[in-house]
Formats: sequence, structure tokens, C-alpha cells
Amino acid sequence: MLIPVRCWSCGKVIAHKYQEYLDAVEEGKDAGQVLHDLGFERYCCRRMFVGHIDLIDEVAPFSIERQQ
Ligand SMILES: [Zn+2]
Repeated sequence: MLIPVRCWSCGKVIAHKYQEYLDAVEEGKDAGQVLHDLGFERYCCRRMFVGHIDLIDEVAPFSIERQQ
């Protein structure tokens, strides 16, 4: 689904850096170095990025359309 707003273990806000992380990794930069540059030193926060799988595009077609 969507990246959690905060790290599950330490509570640091992480979601605001997710798109920046994705863009840098897509450019071919090393994921570990990108996380270091973004200021994520603790491995609990780093695993939130590395272990995340974006499934929103897979799930969204099954959501119910809202009546306006
Ligand atoms: Zn953390």
C-alpha cells in the first residue's frame, strides 16, 4: 500500500522523503547511499524504505466508487 507516515519502531516521520528516495534509486544511485543522504541512519527507518512494496495500484481497481 502506501508508505507509512512514521517508522513503526522509532516513530520518525519518513513518508515525506519516499518520493525523493524513489526518484534517486530510479536514477541508478545506490539505495544505501540515498538513505544516508536523506538522513536515515537507523536501520529501523531504512528497512521501511527498502522493504516497502507499493501495492496501491494493484488494490485501487477493487475499491468501491463513491457516490457524489
Ligand atoms: Zn526508525
